[in-house]
Amino acid sequence: MKQKREIKNFTREELVEWFEQNGEKSFRAGQIFKWLYLRQANTFDEMTDIGKELRETLKENFSISRLELERSERSKDGTEKLLFRLHDNAYIEAVLIPEKDHYTLCISSQVGCAQACKFCLTAKGGFERNLTTAEIVDQVRDAQALVMARDSAKPMSNIVFMGMGEPLANYDAVVKALSIITDSDYGLKFSSRRVTISTSGLVPEILALGNETEANLAVSLNATTDETRSMLMPVNRRYPMEELLKACKSFEMKPRKKITFEYILIQGVNDSDEDAKRLIKLLRPIRSKVNIIPFNEHDKSDFKRPPRERIQRFLQILLDRNVTAMVRKSKGDDISAACGQLRAKNR
Ligand code: SAH
Repeated sequence: MKQKREIKNFTREELVEWFEQNGEKSFRAGQIFKWLYLRQANTFDEMTDIGKELRETLKENFSISRLELERSERSKDGTEKLLFRLHDNAYIEAVLIPEKDHYTLCISSQVGCAQACKFCLTAKGGFERNLTTAEIVDQVRDAQALVMARDSAKPMSNIVFMGMGEPLANYDAVVKALSIITDSDYGLKFSSRRVTISTSGLVPEILALGNETEANLAVSLNATTDETRSMLMPVNRRYPMEELLKACKSFEMKPRKKITFEYILIQGVNDSDEDAKRLIKLLRPIRSKVNIIPFNEHDKSDFKRPPRERIQRFLQILLDRNVTAMVRKSKGDDISAACGQLRAKNR
């Protein structure tokens, strides 16, 4: 039997190419996309506007995979953690976060992570493998189905690649997933203004992303000196701050867009007044905003979250110098769904 290929690994352009090579009309690709992503079909037999013969050919060549939703947990604040099982019994998590008038979905790009950031719980489990495009897209598709089945008044409109893994270390699969997620005619129809890729700072891929996509960029900066950053994030030894910030400065984006700099505040490590002042200076030349994330404590780390007054003071120093900044409210911490707490325990 022929080795079947997973159809959700194909961008629309790639499907067009496949149909052309197989003597079929290219508009079929759009039709298939509509079935897969708008109508959420799980079998080729549902695709009733496609002739029986062609459906058979598709069945011979392609599979339509699913993620298994193993469990979902809802926190007191409404944040929901979705635990998915993959075909090889690996587990990943996505988090559905209710905002005032929409949902934001936080998705994973890898099983585990190789970045070894010292503060992050996902890092402690090491790296297992990259996700495929289909597995990335399916997190969005399945969460979308959940939301639509519930209350259509609040759409799921925003996606952040801030779950498990380093998205830019899985660059090709992530960029292909982006093209499906933001396909405005037939795909999942998310506006690229509402899709954000968060990275620990892989410089070549940051530059490539700016050239190839319109997704928003978030950079986990987390420190204001190379010494501290290298201690927290080993990636800084490969791409030190000067190089990273230079790449951010030249990152291509539309006029009113900004790069988000995430900054975890850890007591006694990176939360001083001097840090705040250095941060202002470092970011001055870059169109940016700062997202302060008070460290989420977990039992694999001795780091502590600074007291409330320290967090407030750090924020105020930035605001006083006209830096756009906010403290990210921690959501879902009672179900280990907060930043840096994701780690599928169900191995
Ligand atoms: N690898 C990507 C995306 C995953 S991490 C990246 O590094 O950006 C998503 C965010 O969670 C990052 O900004 C990271 O710094 C933050 N984070 C990780 N562990 C955390 C913790 N224990 N408390 C608060 N934020 C954490």
